[in-house]
Amino acid sequence: MATLRVASKPETASMKAAQISKPGAGFEIVERAIPEPEAGQVRIKVNACGICHSDVLVKEGVFPWIQYPRVPGHEVAGVIDEVGPGVTTWKTRQRAGVGWHGGHDGTCRECRRGDFRNCRNVKVTGISYDGGYQQYMVAPVEALVPIPDGLSDEDAAPLLDAGITTYNALRNSGAMPGDLVAVQGIGGLGHLGVQFANKFGYHVAAIGRGSENAVLAKKLGAHIYIDSQATNAAEELQKLGGARVIMATAPSSKSMSALIDGLGPNGKLVVVGAGLDAIEVTPAQLIFGSKTIQGWAAGTPAASEDTLNFCVLSGVRPMIETYPLEKTAEAYARMLSGKAEFRVVLTM
Ligand SMILES: [Zn+2]
Repeated sequence: MATLRVASKPETASMKAAQISKPGAGFEIVERAIPEPEAGQVRIKVNACGICHSDVLVKEGVFPWIQYPRVPGHEVAGVIDEVGPGVTTWKTRQRAGVGWHGGHDGTCRECRRGDFRNCRNVKVTGISYDGGYQQYMVAPVEALVPIPDGLSDEDAAPLLDAGITTYNALRNSGAMPGDLVAVQGIGGLGHLGVQFANKFGYHVAAIGRGSENAVLAKKLGAHIYIDSQATNAAEELQKLGGARVIMATAPSSKSMSALIDGLGPNGKLVVVGAGLDAIEVTPAQLIFGSKTIQGWAAGTPAASEDTLNFCVLSGVRPMIETYPLEKTAEAYARMLSGKAEFRVVLTM
C-alpha cells in the first residue's frame, strides 16, 4: 500500500508540516518546501508518525540548544522516495522508518568501539533535525530501519521507540525463559512489554494500579495480574519466589522504589519510565541478594530492525489511536492526557 502511494509524486514541491516555532508555543500546520536529501541521506515520504511523551522536550524547549522552528517526531514510518548522492544501500520505494536514534558520526571513541548508541555526537530524530510530524523528512542512512512486509506503517511507527525500548530492555535483562518477570505499568510502554515478556517465554506478572487493567493485561499475555493499590506488589512477587526482572514503565519513581523488595536473588529493576523524582533504595536492599537497578534507553536502528521483525514473527502489535496530521494539536493533547490506549499515531 505504501509503495503505491509514492508512485504519484506531488506536482507542487511543497508539503504540510506540524512545527513548533518557539519553546512553549502550540503546533502550527505550515506549508514548507519538500526537503532535498544531501550526501548520505534519503528522503522519506512519511505515512505515519507516533507521538511520544518525550516530544515534550521539543514542545516546551527543555533543551536550550534545540533550534526552532522544529518539527518533532521520532517514530517515523514511510517509504523512501529519493536518495541523496552516494547512497547505494537504500533504494526508492523501499519502506523505511526512523526512531529516536537519528544518527551517529561513526568516528568518535564510542563509535570506534561499536557502541553507536552512545556516540559522542549522537543525533536525535525530531530534536537535532526535523522529525516525522510532516509529509516528507530527510534522514541519514545510518538512522534508517527497514520495515518488513506484514507490518503496517501505523503499527511500525510506535514500535520504533516504545517497541524497541521494551523489547531491547527485556532481551538484554538477563532473564531466561521461565523466569518471573514483572512489568510495572500497563500503558504505552507496558502494554508492549507484557506482550514481549510473554513471547520471550517468561512467567509474566503485570503490575497496575487498580483492577481495571486486569482483563487487558491477561489478554496481552500476563499470567498474573497484581493490583498495587489493593495489595503490596513486592510481597506478591516474593510469594512467587521473587522477580528475576522488574521492568518499570510507569513514570512513578515512588512505585518503582516500592517494588525493589519484590526482586529475587540477582534480581534487576530495569527502569524505562522516566519520572523526575529520585528512586529511593537503601544499600542493604541491594547488597543482600546482589540486586541491581539499571536504566535503559531505546537502542540502535539495528535493534529496531530486530524489534520489527520479531513483531511480525510473534504477532506483537501496539494498540494505537490515529489522528490526521492536521489534528496534531488534538493528538498531542490526547497523548498528554494519559488516557490514550495506548500510543497516538499521526497519519499523513
Ligand atoms: Zn560517534
